[in-house]
Amino acid sequence: MTQFAAPRKSLGQNFLQDPNIINKIVAALSVGAEDVVLEIGPGRGALTERLLDLTKDLHLVEFDRDLVEYWQTRQESFSGLVVHGADILRFDLSQITQIIDAPLKIIGNLPYNISSPVLFHLMKYADDVDCQVVMLQKEVVQRMSASPGGKDYGRLSVMLQQRYDIEYLFTVPPGAFFPPPKVESAIARLTPLTKINHPVEDNIVFEKVVKQAFSQRRKTLRNTLKGILSADQIESLSINPTARAETLSVKDFVALANLAAKDV
Ligand code: SAM
Repeated sequence: MTQFAAPRKSLGQNFLQDPNIINKIVAALSVGAEDVVLEIGPGRGALTERLLDLTKDLHLVEFDRDLVEYWQTRQESFSGLVVHGADILRFDLSQITQIIDAPLKIIGNLPYNISSPVLFHLMKYADDVDCQVVMLQKEVVQRMSASPGGKDYGRLSVMLQQRYDIEYLFTVPPGAFFPPPKVESAIARLTPLTKINHPVEDNIVFEKVVKQAFSQRRKTLRNTLKGILSADQIESLSINPTARAETLSVKDFVALANLAAKDV
């Protein structure tokens, strides 16, 4: 039996050990034999072992050197297993998407300390992705999938929902892991929108408008967007300048950003 080093807290290593939950997570990706799958952070293989039964083409991105070595030894018995020893935040996914015929499926029980940066990094490749199933801290999944009007709705909701259909699938208790994390976790499925309902003209301006609007949640748009758009400009889009960011839809944010982009 393989002897693994103790879990590394700095790498967010909480390993899944509940077989029912592992099955449910993998099932949520609907992997077929012809699919190409990328797993972020395979760790000791809770999800990976199941994935190896389902696909002939599995890429792993792992940062922990000992675990990379372990997965490299497993490559001998699986010709379609490719191990990338890398930091996912610096990993260029186009090295996979450029050489495959079908859109990529992504899965990962993500290290929670870098979950938002990972989501934003993956978004750059959304055109070439079929679907991604990720486990994150429960609060983060609530924010990703939140609707306008509530306290969970914010920058993460708007930025991700402009590009993906996001489903909150189910909650995972700390006892499903070794060692158990201090927080509850949840599974999200992100499916890139094939037809983008509200296209953004300039991503940098969009990011700026959304960030600025939510910078002080209690302030009105007229105040938070000062220097980017005037109250009259906001009103010209039939958006109330005295409204707060959390009441606006993704469509409203895109309209604001596209108007601001005209002035750039
Ligand atoms: N998939 C395994 C499971 O469910 O049991 C492990 C999940 S554990 C929460 C997170 C995994 O991501 C660990 O294997 C860790 O070493 C790896 N990891 C941490 N930071 C990473 C990074 N920047 N890039 C790639 N992998 C990373």
